[in-house]
Parts: sequence; structure tokens; C-alpha cells
Amino acid sequence: MYMEIKSALDALRETAKLAGTLKEIADSAKLNEVRIAIQEQVIAAQERVLELQSLLQSDRETIAKQRDEISCLHRAEVERDKYKLRAVVPGGAVAYFAAANSETGEPEHWLCQPCFDAGKKVALKIQPNMRSMHCAVGGPSHAVSLLGDRGDDAGTRSLRINRA
Ligand SMILES: [Zn+2]
Repeated sequence: MYMEIKSALDALRETAKLAGTLKEIADSAKLNEVRIAIQEQVIAAQERVLELQSLLQSDRETIAKQRDEISCLHRAEVERDKYKLRAVVPGGAVAYFAAANSETGEPEHWLCQPCFDAGKKVALKIQPNMRSMHCAVGGPSHAVSLLGDRGDDAGTRSLRINRA
């Protein structure tokens, strides 16, 4: 881009030099010839400036878009780092856990693992019978048993991690 701008400026300097010779030309036919050459060079330079402005605008838009994407990815990474994948109960299915945050006042909570892995933050809600936690988006197939080694509640996820 900078070489193209330098090249366009060099062409304009040559045109200015040519314009400086106009008063030295006495022959009217030669004078017209030089005027036409100058006009053609000015028009070519204007077209080149427009092209370069268009390229510059396109680059600015690309940079702004990439900045937004980086910012979005950074926020997602920061958000994701708040959660740790762990078994809800020993020997039970896994979910993403966030400890209580005293700065934001956010209580400890669990997020649905299949939904979180798909990019959605869905809090698991403990059911009144205290036997499972349910996901409002994924339905029964995303439910997590709270019974652990005592067995799964009907319809809850059976995915388990090995106890270390
Ligand atoms: Zn879910």
C-alpha cells in the first residue's frame, strides 16, 4: 500500500515538473500537447487516489472487524475460564462449575455441559426432589443425576468421569 502511494505521489511530482515547463513553450501545438499530457496524468492520478482510498477503507473495515472478533474471543475465553468441568457428585455426570464470586456477587452455580460446549450458558436447576438438576434448553437428555454412586435418576445423563 505504501509503495503504491509513493508511486502515485512520484507521478504527481513528474506532472508538476511538466506543468512548470508550460511558460517556456512558445509553440502552440506543442503547448496543447503538453496540456493534454498533464490533464491525462492528473486524471490518472485522481483515479489512482480513489482506488487507494477504497483499498484503505476496505483495510480499515477488515481491521475493525478483526478487532471485534478478537475482543469477542477474549471475552469468551475470560468467561470460559470462570468454569471448571467436574463431576456434580462423586462418580456422577459432569457439568461446568463456577465458584461464588464475591466481586460480582454471583453465587456458585453449575452450567449444563452439552449446552456450554455448544456455546450456550444454561444454568442447571436443582429439582424439588433434590435427585437431579435439569437444563431448561436440552430437556431430560441434559439432566444430571445428583445420586452419584447411588444410581442415576430416571432419564438423567449417565456420562461419568473416573474418580482420581
Ligand atoms: Zn443443556
